[in-house]
Amino acid sequence: MHELAPYAVSPENSRGRRIAEQSSPGRTPFQRDRDRIIHSTAFRRLEYKTQVFVNHEGDLFRTRLTHSLEVAQIGRSVARNLYLNEDLVEAIALAHDLGHTPFGHAGQEALNDCMKDHGGFEHNLQSLRVVDVLEEHYGAFDGLNLCFETREGILKHCSRKNADKLGDVGERFLLDRRPSLEAQLANLADEIAYNNHDVDDGLRSGLISQEQLEEVGIFGRHLAMARKDYPGISGRRLIHETVRRMINTLVADLTRQSAMNIRDAGPASLSMVQEAPFLIGFSNQIRQEQQELKKFLRDYLYRHYKVARMSAKARHTVEMLFNAFHSDILLLPPAFQAKYHQVRHQAIADYIAGMTDRYAIREYRRLFAIEER
Ligand code: MG
Repeated sequence: MHELAPYAVSPENSRGRRIAEQSSPGRTPFQRDRDRIIHSTAFRRLEYKTQVFVNHEGDLFRTRLTHSLEVAQIGRSVARNLYLNEDLVEAIALAHDLGHTPFGHAGQEALNDCMKDHGGFEHNLQSLRVVDVLEEHYGAFDGLNLCFETREGILKHCSRKNADKLGDVGERFLLDRRPSLEAQLANLADEIAYNNHDVDDGLRSGLISQEQLEEVGIFGRHLAMARKDYPGISGRRLIHETVRRMINTLVADLTRQSAMNIRDAGPASLSMVQEAPFLIGFSNQIRQEQQELKKFLRDYLYRHYKVARMSAKARHTVEMLFNAFHSDILLLPPAFQAKYHQVRHQAIADYIAGMTDRYAIREYRRLFAIEER
């Protein structure tokens, strides 16, 4: 392992696992966490879950799996430069979307609406539920028994009401403390990844155009740089040269600004990080440019009528599934019926949230098309 700063999370200052385990001779606890996440069932399902584009719309769009790998890549580069715990950042990045429903944001909103009288549905909490409870891999415990700091990083945000019920990982929301720098970093690596790949996927889909994007500061600036370096290129090659420059700028800015914030605050330990304001962050200029890009993506991609149509179908599918199970519990697979006796509607939410896009589509047909079984 590379050298760690005194304020980084380390095996020595970790709060450890809920159930104590023998340490591994060859791997740090955070390498083990990462490995457990990669071997989990929920991780494999990320391949068939999406954020903006539904899985069957094309093979080249990001899935939650490739998104998570991009987040891990970006997070690790920055972690190494700031002497933070790279393994922890990687573990958080790979696990951060495990609790997502099928069909991205539309699926999450629909399930949250369906669950509104039963505590609601929140994908952060569900990601934690996956690693704490739902994975069935080990003889000694439910879930993956991950280290506190990995679990804390997965729980990006949470209401005070929910924090109250969560115990250890909920504490910081009640005490107004910050999570580790590794968790803060994974969160911003997520933002860098999705802004950039949504530009790339958006252009690839044809729903937004290069001409429209040229008006957006950060894209226009990097497009000009790519054109200057390679005057002869166009099309996909030009877009890739632009996007890789944007990612580079964001990563460099995040590293530089965070190093300055850390230097100014001067935390000498992990507990001082928790008392300090957020230290991992972009410069003001880059933050504003990112806001402008986000607004563009919201207005022209996420609210594009073709995306809206697909989202409406996704919402309908999730609602129909939920209502069917809710009105007749016998329609649930037996394992979830059994769980329904303990956790009620949460069992239905667990079943639906665990579905991939294509599984949800198939399940919808099995429930509503008379010729299907
Ligand atoms: Mg994400």
